[in-house]
Formats: sequence, C-alpha cells, structure tokens
Amino acid sequence: MTDLTSLGVKEIRDGVRAGSFTAREVAESFNTAVADAAALNTFIVTTPDHALAAADKVDAARAAGETLGAMAGVPIGMKDLFATNRVQTTAASHILEGFTPRYESTVSQKLWDAGAGMLGKLNLDQFAMGSSNETSYFGNVTSPWKKAGSNAAMSPGGSSGGSSSAVAARIAPAATGTDTGGSIRQPAAFTGICGIKPTYGRCSRWGVVAFASSLDQAGPMARSVEDCAIMLGAMAGFDPKDATSLQMDVPDWEAALNSDLRGKKVGIPREYRMEGTDQAILDSWEQGKAWLKDAGAEIVDVSLPHTKYALPAYYIVAPAEASSNLARYDGVRYGLRDLPDGVGLQDMYAATRAAGFGDEVKRRILIGTYVLSAGFYDAYYTQAQKIRALVARDFALAFEQCDVILAPTTPTASFPLGSMNEDPLTMYLNDVFAVPASLAGLPAMSVPATINANGLPLGLQLVGRPFDEQGVLNAGLAIQQRANFTAKPEKWW
Ligand code: GLN
Repeated sequence: MTDLTSLGVKEIRDGVRAGSFTAREVAESFNTAVADAAALNTFIVTTPDHALAAADKVDAARAAGETLGAMAGVPIGMKDLFATNRVQTTAASHILEGFTPRYESTVSQKLWDAGAGMLGKLNLDQFAMGSSNETSYFGNVTSPWKKAGSNAAMSPGGSSGGSSSAVAARIAPAATGTDTGGSIRQPAAFTGICGIKPTYGRCSRWGVVAFASSLDQAGPMARSVEDCAIMLGAMAGFDPKDATSLQMDVPDWEAALNSDLRGKKVGIPREYRMEGTDQAILDSWEQGKAWLKDAGAEIVDVSLPHTKYALPAYYIVAPAEASSNLARYDGVRYGLRDLPDGVGLQDMYAATRAAGFGDEVKRRILIGTYVLSAGFYDAYYTQAQKIRALVARDFALAFEQCDVILAPTTPTASFPLGSMNEDPLTMYLNDVFAVPASLAGLPAMSVPATINANGLPLGLQLVGRPFDEQGVLNAGLAIQQRANFTAKPEKWW
C-alpha cells in the first residue's frame, strides 16, 4: 500500500470517500510520523486521540452511507494561535502556558465540522511575532530542508513555522496558519509548500489569539493549490462573533479552479525590484512571468509607488495594535500568574508580564505603546495609517490595469537558524514583499517555484483583488502546473 503520509488533502479525502483506505489508517500513519519527528520541534503538544476520534467518526459516517465533509478523514496540524477546546493554547508564549480554553475557535470548529481531525498544536513565533520561528518560548522549529553540503539547522520561516515545517516534512498533509504581515506566505516559500492568506474578513478571527486585529487573517498551508482551495473553503465563512467577518457566501473555490488564463492580465509591480533581493529570486520571478504568459495571460507593468513605506508603516500599525491586544495578559485571567509574596495587584501585573513575555514581544509592546502615546501619536500612528491608505490605493489603481499581481514572496531563501538575530531590522526585511498586501487586506498566496543553487526552495507570490481568491488560486495553479515542483526534503530527523 502507498505510504499514506505521502498523500495530500484531496488524495486523502477522495481515498477515504472511495474506501481505498480508512480515515483511521490515515490518522494512525500521521500520528506515527509526528511521533518520529520530534527533532523538528514542530508541535508544542500532540493530540493523537483527537485525530483518531475524528477519523473514527468519519469512518462510521461513511459506513452509515452519510455524505462526508470537505475535509473528511484529513488529520491536520493546528497553529497554536487557535483556541482549541480543552487543549492547551499558548501562542508559543510562557504567559499562556497551561491555558486550556473551554471553547473552540470558529475556524478550528469549521474544520472539525468538515471532518478534519487534529494531530496537535503547532509551534510558532511567540504571539506570531517573528519571521524565523526563533521567538517561541518552546524552542525554535527546524526546517526539514538542509542547504546543500551543510548540516546547519535552517529556519522554516515564521511565524507559521511549525505549520510549514510539518507540511514540508510530510508529518501533516496540511496545517492552519495565520498571516498578519506574511506569516503564511514567507514560511510557505521557505519550505516549498503553498499557503494562501484570504481577503481580510474571509476567515473568522474569533478564538484566534490576537496580534494586530486589523491585519490578522487565518489561512491554509498545504502542498498544492488544490489542497489550499479545499481547506480554505472549509475555514472561511461569515461569523457573527467576529465584527469584521465578511458577510459573503463562500464560493466553491475547488470546483472553479481553472489554470487557463487567457484574457487575464498579470501585473508586475516595478517597485518590487528591490536592492538586496537574491538574483535567483529575480530569475524565478522572470520564469514566473513566462509561465503565466504560457498559460494565456498578458503581462503588464504596474506601479505600486508607496511600496517602500509599507514595511515601516506595518511596524507602527502592528505593534500599536499588539500593545493594546496584549494588555489583557496580566496574570488575572489566563495562564501564568507571578505573585511575589506580599505584593499588590500592580506588582503582580508587572511581574507576570516581565516573566511571561519574550524579548521580541516586549519590543513590540514598547514600540506600540510609544507610537500610541499622546506626544507621538500623530507623528507615527496617524502617519502610518495614512501610508496604509495610500498602499491600499496603489493596489486599487493597479487592479484597474491587471487582474492579479505576480511578485516574489521573499527577498531571499531560508537562512540558518541564529544567523539573523543581530539586528531586528534585517529580520523584519523578510516581509518586505508580503506586508503591502496585508496592509491592503488583499488575498495573497505563495506557490513553490524552484530550488536555488543551494538546494533550497523559492516561492512566487500572487496578489488578487479583494474577494478574488479564485483569481489568485487559478494563477497559482498555472504556476504549479508549469513549475512541476516535486523536490522534497531528505529525511534526516
Ligand atoms: N514577520 C512579521 C512580524 O514579525 C509578520 C508576522 C505575521 O504575519 N504574524 O510581524
């Protein structure tokens, strides 16, 4: 029998439906693969029983002749930013260690309702702040990929690095991610998998630990465009519990997948040719243009003139919102409480926060508090909001000339763990191509394009009009069919 862990979402779902194997067999195979891959540190907790119970339910439903859901029999990894009922939810922070919600996030509930089960809670950068997975309280995740001729441990990207590593290593067929300023797309690019951040509001934020609420979006990470389409369909939908949830029907993205791009225009933003971008990335961008042309699209130049201000604006808006969102962790309601003998309430707040938050999180809280302070609000926060509006307007104007935008996902391939920690600004530059679409709330996807001279994956990014996930997925499919990306990491763990 084929190794079930080599299968993706669609293959598992279809195989379970057809009776080629049972959901339990699939869950058992992945549970074993997860247990064997402890060296990657992808999971903070594993939940083999959750995966098995969901699988048994699917097998019983099939035996009873019931219709099976879109994710029936697919065991997935859940980024540990989603609240999961009675399963520890930490955001990879010490301050939430031991926090076990008594409720389920809307997105995870939708996935269980569609027949998925959970392999465990995936490691991430602490509170989703980071680009390398090194800010987790529970230790960094390691990428399954190695640089040719080197044994250095590589970064799986961040913040959804547990998700990317697990999917690339074939210990989960798919995983949830969240993207505030690139955290689905950058790790997907680093590990040779697909990931899509939908239009802001498509997926409910209810029960997702908040980082920057006006930017946070959940999305799927999987090995193919089809798998992303299926899983996004299961995750998305209006939720009255999230005030920013889109009141729109969820299209059948899988059914409408079509890589024939005749009549479509693909925009190439000239401001994305930035200094410091690897030549191999620029080459793969050229290759991407050729692929989309081959699929029938017309390539047009577009301009996004405020691109260079997007990253600085993001690093004002995101920390500002984070400083406010993270005020709730005070030792009273969740997780950690540090109450030194004989001290008062204020001291408990301070001691808990000092002990509970990691350095990067503290840095963001300090920046956020500063830019929101009375003396600096207009100089920083108001300016950043104006930039945000201009970045969004750039895209709106560009989309008068094209249907989808093609750009690199990241300026470089993955890097060795520990090599980028000197200066936080170099780390922040990882998201220079990802952040503009986040500020504008647009759907954006990373698709694997090629392997560089060092044997590491490179991704291409597609950005679409608001609500046009279909256009993004279709262009992604056209690339996937031509890139024929079959490389996978060699097992060393
Ligand atoms: N790497 C970016 C940051 O550190 C984006 C993170 C994210 O999208 N969650 O803020």
